[in-house]
Amino acid sequence: MKFYIHNRGDEVSRQLEVTFRRQAETHGLIWDEEKPDIVVSIGGDGTLLHAFHKYIHSIDHVAFVGVHTGNLGFYADWKPEEIERLIEGMGLRQYRIVEYPLLELEIETDAGTECFLALNEATLKGIEATLVAQVNINDEQFEMFRGDGICISTPSGSTAYNKALGGAIIHPSLEALQVTEIASINNRVYRTLGSPIVLPKHHHIDIYPEAGKRLMLSIDHIYREYPNIHSLRANVAARKVKFFRYRSFPFWNRVADAFISDRSN
Ligand code: NAP
Ligand code: MN
Repeated sequence: MKFYIHNRGDEVSRQLEVTFRRQAETHGLIWDEEKPDIVVSIGGDGTLLHAFHKYIHSIDHVAFVGVHTGNLGFYADWKPEEIERLIEGMGLRQYRIVEYPLLELEIETDAGTECFLALNEATLKGIEATLVAQVNINDEQFEMFRGDGICISTPSGSTAYNKALGGAIIHPSLEALQVTEIASINNRVYRTLGSPIVLPKHHHIDIYPEAGKRLMLSIDHIYREYPNIHSLRANVAARKVKFFRYRSFPFWNRVADAFISDRSN
């Protein structure tokens, strides 16, 4: 079993990486940054997003596991005191893999087509002006959007930016994507639905921004500026992300612990 550790860069996470690596190697696990079977993220959910994008080209072969050195996270849901158990599980290959849906994006610009995968969400926003865009669902016009932007999230990303936008929390066993509005303008001239929508697998949403406007596209923590996006298509990706599970920690318990009260304290 080959592993790699990606840490947040703070002192606590760096120290935990040293301890983890030493213990893992005594259990016969092999350090391999190039082709790991397991990528351990030490830090927070943001750290796991970084680890995911570092290994995005090998997600079919890699399972991720997140250890949190700050608050309990959604991806980073292992406690530092549990690493011994985790390493034993890895060494004995006693674990289960769970898979979560991803968001697939295809954007058309003057330069051609680009494809991306997001673990949390993608957002499209205007830079010096509001975003004005036609929104189609399954090739039929749905609405004309005008406002700050549009967020399209995965089920596991539904507890992140999507939640701040009033989106619902979606269990990651549902293969779906959720579209939320970011401060849409609604008056007698501009009208959008106003509520989040959830699309199943095999549906797609297309966004056609007004020509010639500078836009900001975010994919998880990565932000890119574009001078001219002709269209953006989003759907549930065929590929999924794998997480290493050694003990069960139901999603709704994580939601309650993160947002209501941590019952383990
Ligand atoms: P950041 O601005 O440093 O942190 C954003 C916060 O979101 C952190 O507390 C992070 O947890 C948490 N988070 C990340 N993924 C999550 C998930 N799936 N469920 C619940 N919380 C989650 O940015 P970052 O750490 O690079 O993360 C990028 C993410 O920030 C984006 O994908 C987006 O979801 C989120 N974001 C949120 C808002 C908002 O809520 N208004 C605005 C912009 C971006 P950790 O502290 O454990 O890393
Ligand atoms: Mn962060």
